[in-house]
Amino acid sequence: MSDKIGLYPGSFDPVTNGHVDIIDRASKLFDQLYIGVFCNSEKKGFFDLEIRIRILKEALKNYPNVTVISAQDRLAVDVAKELGVTHMVRGLRNPTDFEYESNLEYFNNRLEEQLETIYFIARNVFRPLSSSRIKELIHFNSPIDDLVPQSVVDQLERINEDY
Ligand code: ADP
Repeated sequence: MSDKIGLYPGSFDPVTNGHVDIIDRASKLFDQLYIGVFCNSEKKGFFDLEIRIRILKEALKNYPNVTVISAQDRLAVDVAKELGVTHMVRGLRNPTDFEYESNLEYFNNRLEEQLETIYFIARNVFRPLSSSRIKELIHFNSPIDDLVPQSVVDQLERINEDY
């Protein structure tokens, strides 16, 4: 049997415990799992691409079959093809995610018919969690320690020390 290679694409701006849970579960199913940090050069993110990558690498350092990659202005299906990916990985929190993801899958399949997408239904505790909510909490100086990996908290402390 050929290797099962997954690609979990997202903005991860920043990564949350919800993302990490999907990665943890997917890492057990795939021989190799790529986490693709996708960004659009015209959209300014909260954290720069390099910082998002550093945060993710630190958070995922104990997963030997997980590799963090970056992709700027690239289609996920093109990156998947280049890496020999067999399955895309996505998370589903609610009906809005379902609507969005099924539309995305339709267009991905138009480009790459063979590429399957595997969906992980978010566990109850992670369903309310999103990167945008985290950014809002950071903006209002609310605690986020139990919602994100420690590497996100460390990065924020580094930024605060610089001011
Ligand atoms: P985007 O910015 O493209 O919406 P994200 O980086 O926020 O993407 O998320 C990438 C993927 O992770 C999506 O499939 C999304 O549904 C999923 N996801 C995001 N947050 C969670 C969470 N808390 N639990 C499970 N899956 C999640």
